[in-house]
Amino acid sequence: MHQIVIIGGGLAGLASSIHLSKLGLDVVLIEKNTYPKHKVCGEYISNEVLPYLQYLGFDPFAYGAKRIEQLSFSTVSGKNISSTLPLGGFGISRYCMDHALAKIAKSNGVNILQASVKEIHYEGGRFNITTDSKEIQEAEIVIGAFGKRSNIDVNLNRPFMKESSPYLAVKAHYEGDFPDDLVGLHNFDGGYCGLSKVESDKINVCYITDYKSFKKYKNIDDFERQVVTKNKYLKEALQKMTPVFNKPLTISQISFATKNPVEDHIIMCGDSASMIHPLAGNGMGMAIRSAYIASDLINKYFQGEIESRRELELEYTARWKNEFQFRLATGHIIARLFKIGFLTEGLASLIKLFPNILPRIIKMTHGKPMKL
Ligand SMILES: Cc1cc2nc3c(=O)[nH]c(=O)nc-3n(C[C@H](O)[C@H](O)[C@H](O)COP(=O)(O)OP(=O)(O)OC[C@H]3O[C@@H](n4cnc5c(N)ncnc54)[C@H](O)[C@@H]3O)c2cc1C
Repeated sequence: MHQIVIIGGGLAGLASSIHLSKLGLDVVLIEKNTYPKHKVCGEYISNEVLPYLQYLGFDPFAYGAKRIEQLSFSTVSGKNISSTLPLGGFGISRYCMDHALAKIAKSNGVNILQASVKEIHYEGGRFNITTDSKEIQEAEIVIGAFGKRSNIDVNLNRPFMKESSPYLAVKAHYEGDFPDDLVGLHNFDGGYCGLSKVESDKINVCYITDYKSFKKYKNIDDFERQVVTKNKYLKEALQKMTPVFNKPLTISQISFATKNPVEDHIIMCGDSASMIHPLAGNGMGMAIRSAYIASDLINKYFQGEIESRRELELEYTARWKNEFQFRLATGHIIARLFKIGFLTEGLASLIKLFPNILPRIIKMTHGKPMKL
């Protein structure tokens, strides 16, 4: 039986696998895809988690990540607000970062299995994890790091799977002219588009919208022509770029419903525990930070400082809520307010009058830099 099996090798799963293996624990990570792989993501990461990534042995700047310090926000009607980001962050593709973290995990002794987990069964203090190849792994602790929506959520009968998930997202890399240190966040009717640079001077363009807005159009090209580029900043920016991908990546059924940080004794990390609206630009930071909390407590459990599974689960839930509940709620409120056209315009006018509001709003959805 293994000490820890982690399901999902995105940022939450990889960070916790490196952390726990660094502490000498026996870790298996099961990821259904191979590395490297592009993912739909804005690819801007808050500096909040930089000290922790460096502790894990990952320096994004050694991979060519861009330091990002400025934000430019615009509304459909063309109101534009610029601000310095309170903490700042960096731009790096998931293609590069997940792959690099997986290499670090492997060199630390993490056993990475490429398989899709079909079922997790808990009984008598141990888990049986069944994969698509019918292989069964046994573990004392399971970390669920399988992202925003997985077949495992269906098996666990998680309530959010029955709620509507009305968002879809599109992402592609481009070549062209865009400042290294800027993240652009531009509103269009029914959604938002983020632009920022990643390593190798590529520009990541990623937008999220709701089905209601999208379904009126025939395809992505049509939607971009008739809706996205109605924002003049997006139109100008996209005109100066050429796509690198043959076609954009898309995901659908995105939900921001509340989930539990522990489910059926599984310690949930990252989006499996709850997802913040991408408008807040901090889902990756939260995924990585939740990996730290889980790893710290799981290590204490194996060292005997936490005496029981129940204590571990209660402590994780309390620390998770303390760290993320306020950010999640704020992120959802902001996303809701900015979804309504006239409110977005009104809020943009208000922020133009009182520019200090914007860094304050951003701070509310981010944590302080991690201290280790
Ligand atoms: C449109 C959009 C833009 C975003 N922009 C940003 C941004 O700019 N900045 C930011 O900080 N955050 C952003 N986010 C959020 C960020 O992408 C997520 O919060 C982050 O990826 C969560 O990491 P994770 O490790 O929890 O999940 P993931 O990175 O999704 O990893 C989950 C992994 O689990 C694997 N998996 C799933 N099911 C199984 C299974 N059954 N068996 C084995 N493996 C499985 C998947 O293959 C995947 O690799 C954005 C999100 C969206 C949707």
